[in-house]
Amino acid sequence: MKVAVIGCGPAGLAAALMLEDDGHEVAVFERFDEPRPVGSGIVLQPTGLAVLAALGLESEIYKCGKRIDRMYGKAMPAGKTVLDVNYSALGEEFHGLAVHRAALFDVLYAAVRNRNVQIHTGVDVSSASDIEAYSGVSFDVLIDASGARSRLRHFAPFPSRWRELDYGALWGSFSWPAKNFQANTLEQRYVGAHTMIGILPIGQHSAATEDQVAFFWSIKTANYEHWCEEGLDVWKKKLLSIWPETDVILEQITDASQMSLARYGHGTLRRPYSDKIVFLGDAAHSTSPQLGQGANMALLDAWSFATALRESGELSSAMRQYTESRRWHVRAFQLSSLALTPFYQSDSRVLAGLRDLLFHPASKLPIVRRIVAGLVSGMLAGPPKGLMKSKSV
Ligand SMILES: Cc1cc2nc3c(=O)[nH]c(=O)nc-3n(C[C@H](O)[C@H](O)[C@H](O)COP(=O)(O)OP(=O)(O)OC[C@H]3O[C@@H](n4cnc5c(N)ncnc54)[C@H](O)[C@@H]3O)c2cc1C
Repeated sequence: MKVAVIGCGPAGLAAALMLEDDGHEVAVFERFDEPRPVGSGIVLQPTGLAVLAALGLESEIYKCGKRIDRMYGKAMPAGKTVLDVNYSALGEEFHGLAVHRAALFDVLYAAVRNRNVQIHTGVDVSSASDIEAYSGVSFDVLIDASGARSRLRHFAPFPSRWRELDYGALWGSFSWPAKNFQANTLEQRYVGAHTMIGILPIGQHSAATEDQVAFFWSIKTANYEHWCEEGLDVWKKKLLSIWPETDVILEQITDASQMSLARYGHGTLRRPYSDKIVFLGDAAHSTSPQLGQGANMALLDAWSFATALRESGELSSAMRQYTESRRWHVRAFQLSSLALTPFYQSDSRVLAGLRDLLFHPASKLPIVRRIVAGLVSGMLAGPPKGLMKSKSV
């Protein structure tokens, strides 16, 4: 088939690789002149790592990341533990791999460039006719992998309500000051649900010569201008009063532009395909990154669609099979993210109070510990059959 993939994110690049491997003629369309990753660090979960292994890219990605075994968060100023999740609750072989977004992009993009895939950049796609007019080719199927702000989503049969979330985050990557923080751990500090600070060691990527850390500060997007006007000194003072050990990171921040604002939206397509178009990744389901699953879900979608097409050999049944195979996993994570995000990013004192009181004691129960580890690792209610040896939680 002639396949047009819209978007050079993890979903689009992984789909392009798998479909080209299966003998399809693949062309990728990307709106940026120079495809580039946006943002800072992400955690590749066992699910996403399994897709990269299936693509033969496991050793490449492990060269740049940092293994993550634990996620640990404290409520301040009391210093009370709120979150303490270990992947080992699922078995010793489980862990995450934190990488700079650029590292994941570089590994996938280099592999795509080594294949017989045409890459068209600087094309902002809003419909099939855009790419047909641009390339002169009539495609058999369009894969919309253009992310959370897809311009093609309205072609889905039952467009769902997509809403911007009030809270986003400021992100930046800096040199990793190992001595001040726990190794192999995503660490967070909270004050109520209105303030959250995070530290994620992400190892190296090609452009960096030393280990890096992704540093984030949760912010109400409506307050971003105020944050810029207030100046770095006021912000740093506030931050140091909550988490003094971040001084070694803060001294690297001399200009507000070193922290980029990420906005989040939430929405899920009820049916991620229509006539000639299939939706993968954030274009099909996006949410806040609180559970750290988005890039992994994007990779799983790409693997599931390519596998369905290979197995069924026919487009309409492949689209149905893809939707079925992803249905419960996507629902479980979209719902969990919707329910849990306000405990960490909202103005609610009640939710923050409940979180500080209940989350840690509850997580000591073996069943809860397993469910939480399943949520964090992406192993709850999935992953699709045939990808991993381990059973879902
Ligand atoms: C701050 C932040 C932290 C995150 N942390 C994590 C984490 O720890 N773990 C995790 O798994 N996920 C995380 N995520 C989510 C993750 O980044 C996304 O879910 C993932 O990148 C989605 O992949 P995608 O391929 O669907 O879309 P994207 O990565 O958004 O890629 C879409 C691509 O399409 C291109 N495009 C867009 N519109 C058009 C158009 N009209 N025409 C042509 N091209 C277009 C874009 O330029 C882009 O290259 C985080 C997200 C944010 C914002």
